[in-house]
Amino acid sequence: LVSETRTVPTPHGASHIIDAIHELIKYFQKDSVIAGIGIATAGIVNVEIGEVVGSTGNLPGWEGTPLKKIIESQTMLPVHVENDANASAYGECRQAQLSNKECIIVVTLGTGIGVGIILHGKVFRGAHYAAGECGHLKMSLEHKRLCTCGLWDCWEAYGSGRGLVSTGLELLHNVSPEQSALALKKDTLTTQAIIEAAQGGDIIAKRALHNWHEHVASGLASLAHTFDPDCFLITGGMSQFVDYNLLNELTQDRTLPRIAENLDIRPATLGRVGGMIGAAGIVIDQMAKKIS
Ligand SMILES: [Zn+2]
Repeated sequence: LVSETRTVPTPHGASHIIDAIHELIKYFQKDSVIAGIGIATAGIVNVEIGEVVGSTGNLPGWEGTPLKKIIESQTMLPVHVENDANASAYGECRQAQLSNKECIIVVTLGTGIGVGIILHGKVFRGAHYAAGECGHLKMSLEHKRLCTCGLWDCWEAYGSGRGLVSTGLELLHNVSPEQSALALKKDTLTTQAIIEAAQGGDIIAKRALHNWHEHVASGLASLAHTFDPDCFLITGGMSQFVDYNLLNELTQDRTLPRIAENLDIRPATLGRVGGMIGAAGIVIDQMAKKIS
């Protein structure tokens, strides 16, 4: 499905990113005839005009860039721009041949949490293209953890990799190095350190990892109650640390019986290439629809 991938560092500033995209397109055009271009990007995307309308702090100046218009005028090819979590969801759903299902929810567990919702094979984007911002579901009223978005106690402040580290640090409060070797790493604690310590039997790390599963399960239960999906597909850098039996069990415990008995949480299959396959898939499917 993917014949070649090419990675370049993200340049600083919108115009330089566009130059880099244009260079990539020219590189692939040397040996191939390109029929269309799919772009998956962070941020809230108005897909009709192909513009990032809600930006991510990681890409300053990206908001307001008329990406579709610029790349189409440079290449004279059809371009579709999509939010990365939505593109990934579309790609995973298409790959697993689940496009005929009622509702598939793809959850990306990484530094944050991204969610893509596919209804009847189509990306559900909401009225203002912002549906799926479920990483910011509220998990608590206690103002315990500030999210990167500026709100308190969002799901991703608990269920992401960053959330796991916060949980680890909370559990390490007043813990001595004799009780847990992780206490020596408080200042530089990482998800990797917690995972390795848990695998080595460290009791604090094991508890942090179990709590992380509970936090992920709480968000999934809210989504299950809202959408009653056919299944959840889990992807992202943190998904490799998921114990699926435990996650299914913990989510069922937090869900109404009728929904719990049909709960299906499994690993996605495409991983990092899901977004690019999804963005390309949308372009291919749109072109096929125009022809038929
Ligand atoms: Zn948030």
